[in-house]
Amino acid sequence: MEISVAIIGSGPAGFYAADALIKNADDAQIDIIERLPTPYGLIRGGVAPDHQTTKKVAIKFEKTALKDGLQYFGNIEVGRDVTLEELREIYDVVILAIGAPADRVLTIPGSDKIGVHGSAAFVGWYNGHPDFVELAPDLNVDAAVVIGNGNVALDIARVLVRSSSGRAKTDLPNYARGAMDASPIKDVYIMGRRGPIEAKFTNVELREMLDLTECAPIVDAADLPEFIPENVENRDRRLAKKNLYTLCAFSELDPGAKPKRAHFGFYAMPVEILGGERVEGIRFERTKLEDGHAIGTGEMMDIPCGLVVAAIGYRADPVPGLPYDEVKGIIPNDKGRIEKGLYAVGWIKRGPSGVISSSRPDGVEVVEHIAADFPNGGKKAGRTKLLELLNERAVRIVHFEDWKKLEAAEHHRAEQAQPRQKFTDIDAMMDHLEGK
Ligand code: NAP
Repeated sequence: MEISVAIIGSGPAGFYAADALIKNADDAQIDIIERLPTPYGLIRGGVAPDHQTTKKVAIKFEKTALKDGLQYFGNIEVGRDVTLEELREIYDVVILAIGAPADRVLTIPGSDKIGVHGSAAFVGWYNGHPDFVELAPDLNVDAAVVIGNGNVALDIARVLVRSSSGRAKTDLPNYARGAMDASPIKDVYIMGRRGPIEAKFTNVELREMLDLTECAPIVDAADLPEFIPENVENRDRRLAKKNLYTLCAFSELDPGAKPKRAHFGFYAMPVEILGGERVEGIRFERTKLEDGHAIGTGEMMDIPCGLVVAAIGYRADPVPGLPYDEVKGIIPNDKGRIEKGLYAVGWIKRGPSGVISSSRPDGVEVVEHIAADFPNGGKKAGRTKLLELLNERAVRIVHFEDWKKLEAAEHHRAEQAQPRQKFTDIDAMMDHLEGK
């Protein structure tokens, strides 16, 4: 089918959509438009730096990027270099794969104190995302609290307590690795407002806490329920059972001589950040569960700490000119279809949940919508018009071969066991491409 398609966003959802289009619409002309010079979205900027196996999905995406019919347009910001309206005029189809890059905000008193960060910013910082390099959190503290019982909370805690030799095998940028290696952090608290059954950790990630050479996971056995209530659905029940088993193993563990501790705390709702200008602690209210909801009991508990990271979920930014569902934090859509010619995939479609491959079916679904909406293909010029427009505006496009040059330099600069030493600054990337 001849049709011109612009996919905005080069993370997993964007690449899965491109892949589905290539497989099902032979003559589709597909352009992936990305704000950063570098591709792969969450794979590069979200997946933990010590999860290099997960990052290998980029090899598959590279194969997609090199397919006939697809072009990568890096360093193009929609809204700055070209507008969404212009893209919709130029292309038959626009697919939004823009993710949910912002933090769900912690709104308790004191959350504006120095030393309190959202997980998007904190993870972005240690992953070398150009937007968050400046965050430079103070890690010269003894204890850190991570709020939330999801996989992002686990990622953050694990990276903070990993050994220096473990970090040396990651692609942490040198500034983050140096700050973590120099940090005296001994205790990290991972705090959930509900219980172990309701925790959203996946079990492989939870069990990984047992593999840390310098840190022991700690759980109070009194927090572990003796049985899983009947009303927990089968899928959640299987996960809860595995997690309970793992947490039970943590509770029986002898921490031995390991110098660091990852404390798992449950039934604790954050109510106030304590301290002066800087965070000095956090107050939690003990909770009990009613119909699955955390209800405060009035009993308070303080944890002294110099760093708080709220890993309480992400949210999408509204797109000017498009409706926005404030509650779900998505653009309202019908199985990915916003209207004829405009579709959504990934977290902007579903909200911030699931693993990387959860976005794959979204691409397949959108291809079905496109086939139904454009039975005779499309007619708009697409790429030639975009190139004309960007040329008129003197925008420097970073093509896929440019990215490969950046990637080669990242590999070249890597020290010893590091997989790469990332560029973390857009000007430095552009200077490298200009040979400066
Ligand atoms: P998440 O799984 O939705 O977890 C968010 C956590 O924050 C929940 O425990 C939630 O508790 C808690 N929370 C929300 N609002 C809160 C508040 N106001 N006060 C206290 N706690 C609050 O989100 P995530 O960890 O950001 O992960 C996002 C998605 O990425 C997930 O699907 C995750 O599995 C995925 N991911 C996967 C991996 C991996 O596979 N290795 C790694 C990272 C992320 P309630 O349940 O009580 O709401």
